[in-house]
Amino acid sequence: MKKMLIGNQWVGASDGRTLDVVSPSDGKAFDQIARGTPQDVNSAVAAARAALQGPWGQLNATERGRIMTRIGLAVLDHEEELAQLEARDTGKPLTTARNDIKVLARYFEFYAGGADKLHGETIPFLNGHQVSLLREPLGVTAHIIPWNYPAQMLGRTLAPALAMGNATVLKPAEDTSLSALRFAELALEAGLPAGALNIVTGLGEEVGAALAEHPGIDFISFTGSNEVGTLIQQAAAKNAVKCVLELGGKSPQIVFDDVDVERAVPIIVRAIVQNAGQTCTAGSRLLVQRSIYDAFVGKVAEAFAKVRVGTPEMDLDCGPVMNPAQHQRVQRYIDQARASGIPVLAEGQIDANVPSGGHFVKPTLFGPVPRTAALAHEEVFGPVLAAMPFEDEADAIALANGTEYGLLAAVWTENAGRLHRVAKAVKAGQVFMNCYGAGGGVELPFGGTKRSGHGREKGFLALEEVSTTKTLVHYHG
Ligand code: NAP
Ligand code: MG
Repeated sequence: MKKMLIGNQWVGASDGRTLDVVSPSDGKAFDQIARGTPQDVNSAVAAARAALQGPWGQLNATERGRIMTRIGLAVLDHEEELAQLEARDTGKPLTTARNDIKVLARYFEFYAGGADKLHGETIPFLNGHQVSLLREPLGVTAHIIPWNYPAQMLGRTLAPALAMGNATVLKPAEDTSLSALRFAELALEAGLPAGALNIVTGLGEEVGAALAEHPGIDFISFTGSNEVGTLIQQAAAKNAVKCVLELGGKSPQIVFDDVDVERAVPIIVRAIVQNAGQTCTAGSRLLVQRSIYDAFVGKVAEAFAKVRVGTPEMDLDCGPVMNPAQHQRVQRYIDQARASGIPVLAEGQIDANVPSGGHFVKPTLFGPVPRTAALAHEEVFGPVLAAMPFEDEADAIALANGTEYGLLAAVWTENAGRLHRVAKAVKAGQVFMNCYGAGGGVELPFGGTKRSGHGREKGFLALEEVSTTKTLVHYHG
């Protein structure tokens, strides 16, 4: 049984209850975690508050940065161990898990360097006055993350918050808490003072809700579904605290008739198959100019048919989806699209030797998908790609912007003017031009527009999100 971290104590749930840790590859339990309680959340928030008054709160920015550098190095020193743990817990291929651990380390390295580089300002004001703007931590920050990239997510949300001197409480997804717990051991060994990081494992409705509503927190960072995101924002409103919401997506690949086909095809396939499509930034809509639609989509179908699905050890293109609910959800989208007569253009293959009981789905390319179909605008969160033709630039932009989401987009054309016109017209937090980056990109400010959420993570901007300013006005005569 893996215990939770509150202050510098490793503890079970206050009522002793536990949850099974299940492998998505075979559906079998292989460990247990604590099923935390609202009382445990109280203890974690109190420990974080105490840390702000204790050694953690006394450190200067450079010292915080040094500790974070050591944490990043500790993660790299344990890359293989963490990757094995992450792969087992999530079902993702080992190569993907190794990359995720490198990205976790990278978050700590990047924000270690940022800790002492977000400076204040002086502001010209009335004669006889000196005005300065101080940059300060928000206080106790709450972090609720999903199961798709557990290690990356914890780095993405915690590293900037710690860099700015906040004390943090993390609630990992109930399905994937193991990498966070092992990470926390490494962080303590690397010198992170007690209470700077607290982890309460358990259920969203119990621990997540108690944390989001807790009057002792000063900020909430949430990554997950739109349904829960709305609950989080309501909870934040009750306590008048700020929240950053990273929610769903239905990101378009917009392909014009002068696309560099050889370059685009493998990137487009990877952008939906990666992590079995369980990526908020998955390129799940393939919008192709009608004049090249058949030829281009045919090339994508050829590549798509070569996609192989297996266990982490098989290390193929992707693994199973996370849990039975996700399995049913993705399979339902596939079955309903088929039943409604949308043509299947290609399917990937599930390795014949995968264990029974695993949550494997066949990656599927559909097209042409009618613009009104569920697949055209709903997030599947699985390896399902919806191809649709468009007529011209104006139609491409309308189609790209025609969902309630606005997270990522990619534009593929050799025409530089069109590239920039379309990139500017598309509503998204990031637009890739003749490339695509689902995940990673620690340096690149990231976040949603429209129903994909608000606020920015990654890059230097994240430091502003997790800090506040104090304006000092001094009359010196
Ligand atoms: P989810 O159900 O919203 O869960 C996310 C987190 O919220 C989990 O830790 C969950 O705990 C917790 N939670 C659940 N109910 C809660 C409640 N009532 N109060 C507080 N916390 C609660 O999302 P998911 O199904 O795990 O993840 C898939 C979704 O996340 C997709 O829509 C995807 O697009 C989105 N996502 C967005 C981004 C981004 O950066 N924009 C990145 C990744 C994923 P449990 O694990 O116990 O349920
Ligand atoms: Mg698991």
